[in-house]
Amino acid sequence: MRTDTPSNTIRRRGVMLVLSSPSGAGKSTIARILLEQHEFELSVSVTTRARRASEVEGVHYRFISRREFESLRDDDELLEWAEVHGNYYGTPRDAVEKAMSEGRDMLFDIDWQGAQQLREKMDADLVSIFILPPSMAELRTRLKRRAEDSDDIIETRLENAKVEIERWRDYDYVVVNEDLNKAFDEVKSIVTAERLRRHRRWSGMHGFVSDLLAENIA
Ligand code: GDP
Ligand code: ADP
Ligand code: 5GP
Repeated sequence: MRTDTPSNTIRRRGVMLVLSSPSGAGKSTIARILLEQHEFELSVSVTTRARRASEVEGVHYRFISRREFESLRDDDELLEWAEVHGNYYGTPRDAVEKAMSEGRDMLFDIDWQGAQQLREKMDADLVSIFILPPSMAELRTRLKRRAEDSDDIIETRLENAKVEIERWRDYDYVVVNEDLNKAFDEVKSIVTAERLRRHRRWSGMHGFVSDLLAENIA
């Protein structure tokens, strides 16, 4: 007679969820809701960019000097890194490897260059979603409404958006963020299905199925 329940004995490796999008498409909004719902923990990147007033050291990023960044990079402590808008960004390796082996799911808010590097290294664990805006006009409206950047910066971001959007084919999934609730539901559906995929190196599954088959039905 089995005493353990399936939910106690069956474990899987964590999912690495990468969200990328052109600036303003809603990636941070969707990421924030996933984090608030405790669906994921955030991979906190290191960056050489200056901290914004709204950001908290160690929560949004670890803000470090160029020198510190280069030393982490040269010591192979970054799983991936890229230069974006003239600053360095990178994903610390340790936190990710620990989370994956303990079956915790991690969220990565990284650009297409970072996604490409993670895909090469951690393909089986990775799920990537590209968020698209419903139109370029709406992207512009959102960037203006967010009221975070000057007109110049908004124009640069819209220009960069074209280059970023070209990468959509590299991603496992594409979600158009027209209605936020719908887009979020779509992201949740992707996450639910991906967590159940058989290839996710389950532990306890073989034992569970053997017990199931050995069980006396009568
Ligand atoms: P944003 O332009 O308002 O998104 O400003 P940020 O400075 O927060 O991010 C700039 C870009 O760098 C965004 O596209 C992020 O997705 C990307 N980014 C953030 N962290 C990382 C990271 O660890 N690695 C890589 N490759 N890209 C990152
Ligand atoms: P990103 O992280 O991709 O740069 P944000 O998540 O900051 O984008 O979203 C940009 C702006 O658009 C924010 O002000 C956000 O509240 C708003 N926004 C996000 N999704 C939608 C949506 N579906 N409809 C209208 N506004 C949205
Ligand atoms: P916003 O100020 O609109 O929330 O975010 C602006 C940018 O900061 C986003 O494009 C995103 O890349 C970055 N950002 C926001 N929140 C986080 C976070 O929790 N983690 C990381 N790594 N970046 C974030």
